[in-house]
Amino acid sequence: MSNQVPLQATCLCCTNTIQIPTTLPLTAHVCHCTTCRTSHGTLFAMHTDLESLPFSECSPPSTFRIYQSSPNSGKAYFCGTCGTYMFASYFYILEGARHEGFCVSTGCVSLSDSYKSENPAAKLEDVLSVDFHCIIKDTIDGGASPWAGDWSKETQAQFHGNWEEPPMASQEDAEELGRKHVYPTGRKELDGWCKCKGVKVRITREDEAKKYKTGVCVCDSCRLATGTDVVPYTWVPRDNAFFVTKSESGEEEIKGWPALWNDAAKESFGGMIIYESTPGKVVWGACGTCGARIFYQRYGKTFENGKDVVEPLTALFGADDTQGIMHLDFLDWVVSDDGVYWAEDAEKAGRAGIMTRNVNVMYQEWVKGLKSRV
Ligand SMILES: [Zn+2]
Ligand SMILES: [Zn+2]
Ligand SMILES: [Zn+2]
Ligand SMILES: [Zn+2]
Repeated sequence: MSNQVPLQATCLCCTNTIQIPTTLPLTAHVCHCTTCRTSHGTLFAMHTDLESLPFSECSPPSTFRIYQSSPNSGKAYFCGTCGTYMFASYFYILEGARHEGFCVSTGCVSLSDSYKSENPAAKLEDVLSVDFHCIIKDTIDGGASPWAGDWSKETQAQFHGNWEEPPMASQEDAEELGRKHVYPTGRKELDGWCKCKGVKVRITREDEAKKYKTGVCVCDSCRLATGTDVVPYTWVPRDNAFFVTKSESGEEEIKGWPALWNDAAKESFGGMIIYESTPGKVVWGACGTCGARIFYQRYGKTFENGKDVVEPLTALFGADDTQGIMHLDFLDWVVSDDGVYWAEDAEKAGRAGIMTRNVNVMYQEWVKGLKSRV
């Protein structure tokens, strides 16, 4: 029989590499709800259900931080060093009884080293597939649903707006949500925040005709940083990006975005996990309370005018439940020469078939369609 531990889950910094005893094949579901988006920093979360957590709930690895939004809610387990949101428990009602469910962030999952040595030709995409999308209506404007799923696949036919409603019939239905949505005019700032509201990001613009370029990256680092295969970023001049914090008396304080995450900056933003994946060069921020990915920053990356670039996770700007999440009045969704960024990473990792290959085609079509819409 096949190996007992075919999968492992890994965070961005690899402090947590956890073997997952399970049987294959498995499915992932894609959730577009506000909780998932603001917990991962992505436009949707990908979760793979497990029969149990691969560690004791009573004594989880000390390398994790745990977030529980209320005493009756499930728990999120994220890396205390890099912030990657890896595992979660949740509760659901079935036939009147309350049950506990468990899941792993699909983007963290790979075939285990021992499984690969026994099955050298195996690819994750052969044993893991998306079975349904849910809670699209939380996005108000359809979010990424017009391009995030493979509507042609029978197995992915279930696109639920909400659980109370039957699945959406077609991709057109999802696109229609976006076409109907009207974004506010004249906005000069856009706020975003994480699930626990501990970290709030604000981006500003002087001119409302100015839109910030937003791209979709599927590289290994972005995937491991968020636990999701598809990750959008918005490129903002550092001068136009701020953190909004609360003083001890509860008043809002606007803090500039640090050029350098030195000890003083880290202390000033003590609520965040700041992790340098390439020391002195690449830094990632996550909420230290709920584990939401907040930003990526590469020192020395500038716009053509020489201004520093910072890259907040676009999905945080969908934390408001009323204004939609794609913000077409503020964000310019772009494609690279190859469509999404770093599609070759997903191919190399043997996981492009789970979602990325299709996203790359559909995303480019969607961006083309926007040109005729806006
Ligand atoms: Zn880590
Ligand atoms: Zn969700
Ligand atoms: Zn948070
Ligand atoms: Zn990336």
